[in-house]
Amino acid sequence: MTRANGWGLFSQIELPFVVLLVAGFLIRSLVSWLFHYAMHNVPLLWRVHRVHHTDTHLDVSTTVRFHPLESVLSAPLVIGTVLLFGIPPVVIMLSELFDAAIAVFSHANIRMPCCLERTFGLVVITPHLHRIHHSTVVRETNSNYGATLVYWDMLFGT
Ligand SMILES: [Zn+2]
Repeated sequence: MTRANGWGLFSQIELPFVVLLVAGFLIRSLVSWLFHYAMHNVPLLWRVHRVHHTDTHLDVSTTVRFHPLESVLSAPLVIGTVLLFGIPPVVIMLSELFDAAIAVFSHANIRMPCCLERTFGLVVITPHLHRIHHSTVVRETNSNYGATLVYWDMLFGT
């Protein structure tokens, strides 16, 4: 729809699908990281997001334990990103599926063998990395904001 209407940056230039896919994943992942960072660092937003952090036993059920306002607040951000960049719907759909799969994986109450942990941890948020984010130690919970990719926390030093 965005391309058909000429909306967004990617509608202005012809790019191979694989470039749109990678760019769309990175942009969606960055927006998710920024939103999560804001949820922890803006006191009013933390009041909403801390519902997710009240679960002291991390497992896959934690994946969906959010205050309803969090979805209400993130939806305009996602829609705005799609319109601003003109991200194709199929890229958003794949990105959201990837995001959902990694969200379930990262909240799972599992301990992976260290070689798998190291390998997966080079790219995606693993249960070990996300367990640090769910720590009760403030310094640790205010780190590892990534939901899918590890690169934004590396880049921003969090
Ligand atoms: Zn959080």
